[in-house]
Amino acid sequence: MPASGPFVAFAEVALPVPLPRTFSYGVPESLARAGTGFRVRVRFGARSLIGCIVEIQEEAPRLPPGTILKPLSALVDQEAVLSPSQLALARFIADYYLAAPGLACRAMLPPETLHEERVLYRRVKTADSQPESAAASRVLDALTRPMSASALARVLGRKSVSGTLGALVESGLVERKHPGGGGARTMRVARITEEGSRALLQEKLRPASARILTLLSTSTDPVPIFTIRNELDLGKTGPFRALAKKGYVEIVAEEFRRSPWGRLAPSRAVEDVALTPAQREALESIESAIATRAFHPFVLRGVTGSGKTEVYLRAADAALAQGRSVLMLVPEIALTPRLGALLRSRFGEKVAILHSALGAGERRDEWWRIRQGEAKVVVGARAAALAPVESLGLVVVDEEHEGSYKQEENPRYNARDVAIVRARNDGAAVVLGSATPSLESYSHAVEGRYRLLALPDRIGDRPLARVTLLDMREVVREEGPEVVLSRPLREAIKARLEDGEQVMVLLNRRGYAGQSLCRRCGLTLQCSECSVAMTLHKNATLAVCHYCGLGRATPERCDTCEGEYLRHVGYGTERVEELLKSLFPEIRVARMDRDTMRRRGSHEALLSRFASREIDLLVGTQMLAKGHDFPAVTLVGVLAADSALSTPDFRAAERTFQLLTQVAGRAGRGEREGEVLIQAFAPEHYSLQFARAQDFEGFFETERKFRRALHYPPVVSLVNLIVEGDSMAEAATLARRAASWLRKGVPENVKVLGPAFAARSKIAGRYRSQILLKVPRREHARARQAIRAMLRDDSLLRSTTVDVDPVTLS
Ligand code: ADP
Ligand code: ZN
Repeated sequence: MPASGPFVAFAEVALPVPLPRTFSYGVPESLARAGTGFRVRVRFGARSLIGCIVEIQEEAPRLPPGTILKPLSALVDQEAVLSPSQLALARFIADYYLAAPGLACRAMLPPETLHEERVLYRRVKTADSQPESAAASRVLDALTRPMSASALARVLGRKSVSGTLGALVESGLVERKHPGGGGARTMRVARITEEGSRALLQEKLRPASARILTLLSTSTDPVPIFTIRNELDLGKTGPFRALAKKGYVEIVAEEFRRSPWGRLAPSRAVEDVALTPAQREALESIESAIATRAFHPFVLRGVTGSGKTEVYLRAADAALAQGRSVLMLVPEIALTPRLGALLRSRFGEKVAILHSALGAGERRDEWWRIRQGEAKVVVGARAAALAPVESLGLVVVDEEHEGSYKQEENPRYNARDVAIVRARNDGAAVVLGSATPSLESYSHAVEGRYRLLALPDRIGDRPLARVTLLDMREVVREEGPEVVLSRPLREAIKARLEDGEQVMVLLNRRGYAGQSLCRRCGLTLQCSECSVAMTLHKNATLAVCHYCGLGRATPERCDTCEGEYLRHVGYGTERVEELLKSLFPEIRVARMDRDTMRRRGSHEALLSRFASREIDLLVGTQMLAKGHDFPAVTLVGVLAADSALSTPDFRAAERTFQLLTQVAGRAGRGEREGEVLIQAFAPEHYSLQFARAQDFEGFFETERKFRRALHYPPVVSLVNLIVEGDSMAEAATLARRAASWLRKGVPENVKVLGPAFAARSKIAGRYRSQILLKVPRREHARARQAIRAMLRDDSLLRSTTVDVDPVTLS
């Protein structure tokens, strides 16, 4: 049936708003080129938004009576930006994770820059076809140099030439050029002034200002504005100008070289090493899977230092040789430069890096290199799972067990699982690599759904480090309750340093002291906006909430009872750094945690100083544990290894085991045998015992039994719903309504637990209730359907956050 009214067709547009639906618009004659995958500008209420067309229909959509269909306002590009396979992936993310389709699409699109028209058009000199119309000839004649679409329109005195340009691009007479590459750029960086530090401790500030000053005050270096915005969730705003005007912060423009490759120089071309028999066997399995052009999932379990990376690189070769592309994910942005440099040295310009810490311009450049097929190897963190690569032959997810693959805001997807879906869609091999695979992936392997590949030994027959558990109850009996570093650990550090070796000390808590406790009423100092104890920073002068970022002067009297007997309990990396410096004044100590690593490139810079032995001892949080190869590190000390076990989280044991195994893998990668000393108050816990024995299988079997008994993943899937309100009563009422909806809607064998207070019952001033669904795998689609039905209730939609396959419940 022909389209009616003023429109030639109708478009369903995914808009970047947090609603679980798309929106209908009419396609006017002048924009008849619009097709699925095009970016378009539309009116949305009073706003003008950029969205993506997900469907074109000939028939007018049925609208509620009284609504008027608006036209598309303009096309952003002259071609589809999202391919059909990308649109399918966006649909999957919206469906499986119950994410807003428009937010899923936006996460896949190149970053919007204010001036899309900076895309330049250039005449193709060698073209042999002729322009088809007089208008096209005029445009072509005006293109005496590369020009943007708007500049061209101005030259020709027309409102828009985009239709003609699009046709010219299609016929090969004109090419589009995405600007970028090379050149210096500036970035705005903020630093707190003395006035600002004083104001933070003494003045009553608005929360946003207090959060910014707190972050700057705990940071050792000036911090890029975009890092502050990201960390504090400020979006595009933030009272930076007001703070600068008051003299509380200084904002300067810093130059940085525009290169996604970080500061690590691309590594030298690697000589062809001979693979070990285990590497060869693993590689051959992956290669034959790639040759079949069908989906093949693998779990590659290789102890730390067993040469997994080399297997990835050779498998990538095999996929490229078939003319297919490669996607490699790492769990942290900081790990991309190393793998990127390795890939670069083998595959040259074919490699692209994609992650969220790149500047918008860089990200856009890399995005288009991938989209246009110039880059066939994509490496990056989470966000790279959404890269516009086509016809994948190989997908690698390194350290697949890491929780950081989970995106914690809408769209809340798990990049590992999205990567697996992509491999399935494209008929690719997917390799999930880890020394400590997740319970989920390893269960798939032992149950035969994934193939298991193993690299059981370290390269060069280097033994795994010797691991010793130190029982802190005994240490406290001998050395008193204030002890941080036990005598055996102090002595081991001393001996290693005297031998000219390097040491790492891991403590997964930043700050100076754990918290401030009142000895009169027994209460800890709480954040005013969150139900969370504040952590003390800066020599315990500043109390900081690690959830919302709010900071205040550490009080001298208890907020509750006004008692004067406040005591600081527990310790963090800042305090341990100070202690180590005083114990070993002649050695060079550095700290690696979020507070010292906010500057761009600071991570690589510190690691390369450590690698070149400018630093003897590195203290840090879990950032230390991952992926680095430092041959001179022979001792790793772990403090408070069991602290996570007291959190109400079904993954606490798994995470503790993984972290300890990873960090143990940092010791003894060189000639000398490594040693690991772990301090814990409950060393008898099985996660610590299996970590000491470096017994993954043992841990897996034990943990799987618990998960089975208690009905947790991988036995069932979880969906966690957080319902928020302005008061606890409101949150509870809404959550009760949600729960009764769900109980009616889900199949019988889906368990609906709650509502209950969330583990953190208040965050950033909002009160939180929690509902947990335990879903047998085959009921997943029906459970999602029930949740979707529940979200048709407007007030529930507005107050509920849905987290499918949560990595944490705390
Ligand atoms: P993993 O990723 O499993 O922890 P890596 O891939 O980092 O291990 O390998 C550890 C070290 O061994 C690296 O320095 C790597 O270059 C080296 N290596 C890997 N495979 C071989 C091999 N077949 N022969 C010699 N050295 C190798
Ligand atoms: Zn808070």
